[in-house]
Amino acid sequence: MRMVKTDAVRGAGITGTRALSEARARQLEQVVEQSGESIVVKDMNAVVTVWNREATALYGFTTEEAIGRSLRELHAADLSEADYARILARIRAGKPTTSTVERRKKNGEIVRVLNKTTPLVDAQNRLIGEITIARDVTELRRTEEALREAQANLTAKLTAIRDANRKLAREVAARRKTETDLRDGHAKLEASVRQLESLQHDDQMLVNMAELLQSCAQRDEAYAVVREVAGKLFPGVVGRLYIHRESRDVLEHVATWGREQTPENGFTPDECWALRLGRPHTVQNQGAIRCRHAQGSAPSYVCMPVQGEGQVLGLLHLELDINDDDKAQRAEGTPRRLRALVDRIGPSLANLKLRDSLRVLALHDPLTGLYNRRYMDDALKREAHRVKRSNKPLSLIMIDIDHFKRFNDTFGHDAGDFVLSAVAKIITKNVRPTDIACRYGGEELAVLLPEADLECAMGRAELLRVALREASLTHRDQVLPAPTASFGVSEYPAHGENLEDFIKASDRALYRAKQGGRDQVCAAETTTNT
Ligand code: GH3
Ligand code: MG
Ligand code: MG
Repeated sequence: MRMVKTDAVRGAGITGTRALSEARARQLEQVVEQSGESIVVKDMNAVVTVWNREATALYGFTTEEAIGRSLRELHAADLSEADYARILARIRAGKPTTSTVERRKKNGEIVRVLNKTTPLVDAQNRLIGEITIARDVTELRRTEEALREAQANLTAKLTAIRDANRKLAREVAARRKTETDLRDGHAKLEASVRQLESLQHDDQMLVNMAELLQSCAQRDEAYAVVREVAGKLFPGVVGRLYIHRESRDVLEHVATWGREQTPENGFTPDECWALRLGRPHTVQNQGAIRCRHAQGSAPSYVCMPVQGEGQVLGLLHLELDINDDDKAQRAEGTPRRLRALVDRIGPSLANLKLRDSLRVLALHDPLTGLYNRRYMDDALKREAHRVKRSNKPLSLIMIDIDHFKRFNDTFGHDAGDFVLSAVAKIITKNVRPTDIACRYGGEELAVLLPEADLECAMGRAELLRVALREASLTHRDQVLPAPTASFGVSEYPAHGENLEDFIKASDRALYRAKQGGRDQVCAAETTTNT
């Protein structure tokens, strides 16, 4: 390195210390040279006085080229006049500065440098120039820019990731909603399947009920079926079934469910709004218009008329809170089940009633209401069997009204009919419920007495004979003479091994009663068996 020996470097110029100063200058030179920084010293006119090796490495100008030349001729060649003037002003101001500037190398390349300047003073502290320590920050700058760029890239990527993330979150949310919707839909579907199954189950139960009702021979059996099925269709609900009496003036209580079955009074049709209006009557809580028959019933109830064959046959009364607007009830199918139940009970009960009437018609004589000859024949066979099984006696009383032809002739056929049915009533009234009274034909009647021997039957016949002759009969304001009748009594099997002989034995006894002057009882003769 070459240095222009300024006073500052050289010291104060005292001859005695020349050698020392030389040595110090030499040391300083080495410091400048080995500092590892590019160091440029210039005078007040920006003319270079010191230019170390690093400065050469930085700007390309050798020390020889640089020393004695102004910055304008070196790396400040590109500066505008104004900028160069600012450099000069700075040097002359004598203030330390730090700045990053662009300078031109000897080969024309632009280099970015971090300049630190400090004023240079002489021994008298006079400003004589400026020391610049310059560091090449081009790479640093590039790295910084690259970093900035990388950071910008990263930021852009981060933004993109954030956007993607937000989009994903939205998609996930949408998918979750779809899943929730699907789950809801599934739950709804399952609920409707369950509801359908329940409806199907109810329908099956109602179909079974209708079948059971069809095969019921007795009304009590039918009521028990209704009680069972209604209890299952409306669990925990108290219900009652009332049926019109034949006379249609009273509804008789026939079944209760959901509560212990206790005997209950019937009521007249005008005590029920459903029967009066001919449609279901629903009561929700107290205060609504209540039926008189339901005064002691639950706060809410429904009365449903039971109809069949175009006729109101009875009433179904359920302690149920029915509300047409109640969605839950509609979903459960409560009103539907109620309707379906009543719709099935009605025709079945009508059918049963019809069958009852047919049975009565088939087995009873319409004029007297007594069993007919066909029933009598069946009963005879049945009771004869029983005799064989139980060894208990069986007796038969044959009855023939005396001089009935004459009676008809005298009082007319209508009066005759009246007397016939009156005689039937007297007989029914004077025999045991287990005895079977029938119209055997014309004015001929018979009573079959299970478990009665001849003596017992004779006593019963005598009782009947007296009851008839003591009857007082008035028909269409006409007082009629009391009828008399003749009686023939036989016992099975004492008076006949078979039924035909048993009947004949009674017939013969009856004939003898006629022969004996009528209005009398004759027992069959054992010796008459053929
Ligand atoms: P007897 O004392 O010998 O039995 O004399 P009877 O006149 O009762 O006997 P008969 O066999 O000669 O006549 C039976 C009469 O009973 C003839 C018939 O007009 C009458 N009769 C039979 N069935 C009915 C009926 O359903 N209604 C009425 N009014 N009369 C009947
Ligand atoms: Mg007769
Ligand atoms: Mg007669």
